[in-house]
Amino acid sequence: MSKKTINDIDWNGKRALVRVDFNVPMERGTNVISDDVRIRAALPTIQHLTSNGASVVLCTHLGRPGGKVDPALELQTVAKRLSELLEAPVGYVHDCVGAIALEQVEALKPGEVMLLENVRFYPGEEANDVEFAKGLAALADVYVNDAFGTAHRAHASTDGVAHQLPAVAGLLLERELEMLGGVLENPERPLGAIFGGAKVSDKVKVLERLVSQADAIFIGGGMAATFLKAQGHNVGTSLLEEEMVGFCGQILEKAEANGVAVYLPDDVTVTKNLESGAESKKVPVDQVPDGWMIADIGPAAIDTFLSHLPDMGTIVWNGPMGVFEIYPFDKGTEAVAKGVAFSGAVTVIGGGSTAEAVDLLGLAEEMTHVSTGGGASLEFLEGKVLPGVAALDDA
Ligand code: ADP
Ligand code: MG
Repeated sequence: MSKKTINDIDWNGKRALVRVDFNVPMERGTNVISDDVRIRAALPTIQHLTSNGASVVLCTHLGRPGGKVDPALELQTVAKRLSELLEAPVGYVHDCVGAIALEQVEALKPGEVMLLENVRFYPGEEANDVEFAKGLAALADVYVNDAFGTAHRAHASTDGVAHQLPAVAGLLLERELEMLGGVLENPERPLGAIFGGAKVSDKVKVLERLVSQADAIFIGGGMAATFLKAQGHNVGTSLLEEEMVGFCGQILEKAEANGVAVYLPDDVTVTKNLESGAESKKVPVDQVPDGWMIADIGPAAIDTFLSHLPDMGTIVWNGPMGVFEIYPFDKGTEAVAKGVAFSGAVTVIGGGSTAEAVDLLGLAEEMTHVSTGGGASLEFLEGKVLPGVAALDDA
C-alpha cells in the first residue's frame, strides 16, 4: 500500500489517537446498539496497538448532532459494548478536546483504551476547523485512521488532524483499500460487476468506470427499469428515471463497443403496491402490465445471473436486486447473494444496503470482503481519492 500503516510504527510507550467508525445503528428511539459490526471491525487495530505497548484514545462520530451536544448521541453505551468485545475496561471521557479530555488521556497507561465523546458535538469537526483538529492532535503522539466508512469526508478527525501528527492507516482501512483497490487495479479475471439498488443516478460514475474495466455487468434492482426503458420496454409504474434513459443507452453502447457482456433481467417480479405479502406475479420484461411496477428480478433472470457467476474470477456487487426489505421481493437478492457467495470468485461487497442484505442472510463470512463503508466504498470504486486516505503519510 502507498500509505504508512500501524505496522510501520514502534508503539512502545506511545499514545495513539484512533479515528474509528462507531456510527452504529441504535434501536429506534433508544440507546441500544442494534448492530455492532462496526465496533467489531475495529478490534484488530485496537488489539494490535495495545499489545504493542501503546495507549489508545478512540474517537468517532455517531449520528448527525449538527455541531451541538445531543444526549441521545452520547457514547457511553458504545464504550460499554467495546469493553465487552475487548474483554477489557474501556474508559469514557465526556468530551473530545480540551482540558478534561487531556487530563484523562494523560493518565492512560500502556495497553489501556479510552473512548472520547462524539466528535460531531463540535461544529469544528464537519467544518474541518484547524483549531479543533489541533485540539484532537494534542491528545496523542500518532494519529491512526481506521474509519473507512467516513474516509470520503474531509472532516477534522479524518483529515485536519492527520496534518498535525504522524498519520497512518489502521488494519481495517488497509484491508478495505487492498480489497476494493484490487477490484480496480489488478482483479482476477473475468471481472463481473453486479449493479442494483434504487437509482441509476446514484451510480452514474461507478457504472461509467466499470463499463470500461469489467468483463461482464449484471443489472437488477430499481435501476434495471431505466435500463429496460432504454431498450424500449414498457416498465409500468416502476421506479423510472426518465432523465437517465439516455445515459443507460450510452452505457449499453459502451459495453458493446468494449466487448463487455451485459446481463439485464429476462423477467421480473411485479406488483401493484410495495407492501409485505402484496399480490405479485412474474412476467417477461416485455410484458410488464400498465399499473404494475418492477419490485425484483424474476426466476429466469436469477438462473441467467447464477449461471454466469461461477465463470468470474472476481465479483464486485453494489446494490440489492429488488426491494429486499419487503417479502416476497427479497428473492432475487437472496439468490444472487448465494450465487456470489458460492461462485468461487474473489467477492467484494460494497454499498450499505447490499452489506446489510448479505449480513441478514448470514452470508457475510462466505464473501472475500464486505466493505464497512457504504458511501465510501462507492466513491472509492468510482475512482475518487478519499480525503481521509490522502491525508495519511506516504509509505
Ligand atoms: P446500496 O446501499 O447497497 O448502495 P442502494 O442504496 O443503491 O444500495 O439501494 C438500496 C435500495 O434499493 C433498497 O432500499 C431497495 O429497496 C431499493 N430497491 C431495490 N430494487 C428496487 C426496485 N425494483 N424498486 C424500488 N426500489 C428498489
Ligand atoms: Mg444505500
